[in-house]
Amino acid sequence: AKASGRGQLQLYAPPLSAAAQQRSMAVQQLGLALRRGELELYYQPQVRATDTQLLGFEALLRWRHPDQGIIAPATFITVAEETGLIVPIGEWVLRAACEQAAQWPGDLRIAVNLSAAQLRSGRIVEAVADALVRSGLPPHRLELEVTESVVVDERSVEVLLQLKALGAELSLDDFGTGYSSLASLSRLPVSRLKIDRSFITALDTGEEQARALVAAIVQLAKSLRLITVAEGVETARQQAAVQELECEVIQGYLHGRPEPAEAWTPWLDELRA
Ligand code: C2E
Ligand code: CA
Ligand code: CA
Ligand code: CA
Repeated sequence: AKASGRGQLQLYAPPLSAAAQQRSMAVQQLGLALRRGELELYYQPQVRATDTQLLGFEALLRWRHPDQGIIAPATFITVAEETGLIVPIGEWVLRAACEQAAQWPGDLRIAVNLSAAQLRSGRIVEAVADALVRSGLPPHRLELEVTESVVVDERSVEVLLQLKALGAELSLDDFGTGYSSLASLSRLPVSRLKIDRSFITALDTGEEQARALVAAIVQLAKSLRLITVAEGVETARQQAAVQELECEVIQGYLHGRPEPAEAWTPWLDELRA
């Protein structure tokens, strides 16, 4: 029932709004996409800041839609989280990413994004353990990225401790963009801090304030013995700035956009040689 303009009740169910209809179609399609194998992982390199040596990759989800081509996660991750579809999707991501990384030479690492809904699902510890066992990937080569949104949930903090006990490494993603960045640092068992792209972008304007902010974040991380990753480094100038500030790891278009695993084969072969 819906209140009409004059306070009377209209006793009928309104038709689904166009937006709601679109959403329910998206949900159906996304579930099918998973089953039909239309989801893919792209990989973006992370390099050591001092000498740009390759350290590993972050796995980033893509949907190869039969009609619409490659769809970026911004348009479907939220729907997946709200409907719970992120749980089976996330389990597929974990398996695929670990299997891929197990093929890579040396100690190259793989970073996988976990959403808050996955941490609340009650299945994540088993899913991570399963992906590790199936792939044979040594746990320390798996990095799990979470955002500070998980800090509000006491049980999720507990789950993170269990994931850490498996031997995986935890990273705090998008650092500096939430409401409780400092509280998150003290409460979450993370060993890495990813400085959000917005801070790195600001370095290019040459503003002293932007530099001071990144410098402060790096110092804070160092005093807590956390490794810092600069996200979204696009220009040589940004790279020079984060190198000077002694940020340890660089990720961004300057060193490579997210690409299918095959795109990185030549680079990996070079490492093997
Ligand atoms: P994120 O985890 O912060 O990932 C970094 C995003 O920044 C990626 O966008 C990446 O392509 C983009 N990026 C990297 N370097 C640069 C740069 O130099 N410049 C610019 N402009 N952008 C850069 P993408 O792939 O579209 O992913 C968006 C978000 O979707 C991710 O943000 C993450 O929150 C979410 N996501 C992606 N894959 C997964 C997944 O498998 N599971 C979950 N739960 N979330 C995922
Ligand atoms: Ca991430
Ligand atoms: Ca991020
Ligand atoms: Ca993000």
